[in-house]
Amino acid sequence: MTPETVADELDEVLIGADELRQRVQELADEIAADHDGKDLLFVGVLRGAVMIMADLARAMPMSVEMDFMAVTSYGYARQSSGVVRILKDLDTDISGRHVVLVEDIVDSGLTLSWLLRNLESRDPASLEVCALIRKPEAVKVEVPVKYVGFDIPNEFVVGYGLDYRQRYRNLNVIATLPTAD
Ligand code: 5GP
Repeated sequence: MTPETVADELDEVLIGADELRQRVQELADEIAADHDGKDLLFVGVLRGAVMIMADLARAMPMSVEMDFMAVTSYGYARQSSGVVRILKDLDTDISGRHVVLVEDIVDSGLTLSWLLRNLESRDPASLEVCALIRKPEAVKVEVPVKYVGFDIPNEFVVGYGLDYRQRYRNLNVIATLPTAD
């Protein structure tokens, strides 16, 4: 879906489709260069990471395995609480594997910090994070994100996997919504 389709519901397009495509290719090249000759496993976090996972994996110049986790964080709709529950765990044993955790967005960092601790406890050979979007101003816990697509201001965004009440995930850009009064 293009932003024109829902133009009256959006505030501003922050990152366009071409920019997304180009940056995802750059991230894929960087990850490939850092993992030359290694057997890579991408772990995507449902549902938000579905678009970045699909595009990043296809942009990789090498074979990668893919697996998914689904987690839920308790708390208010637009805010993370850091209390995370696994809804769907990995099917893959990641012990001894080179893992890249693929995330849609790092906001407070609370979800990611919990996920990293959880995955580290499974003894991967290496564990790095790739996040399409990061909001540096919103960070509450510092988390090591090696591959960052875009740093954006502390605003709620939708599109390219990110939803507001399950809408806009299939929007092909990253956009802001009008602020609720
Ligand atoms: P954190 O724990 O880093 O605060 O939040 C992580 C999760 O909150 C993300 O995986 C995402 O589901 C949700 N989230 C954080 N910021 C945004 C945003 O700007 N837009 C949307 N749609 N979800 C967000």
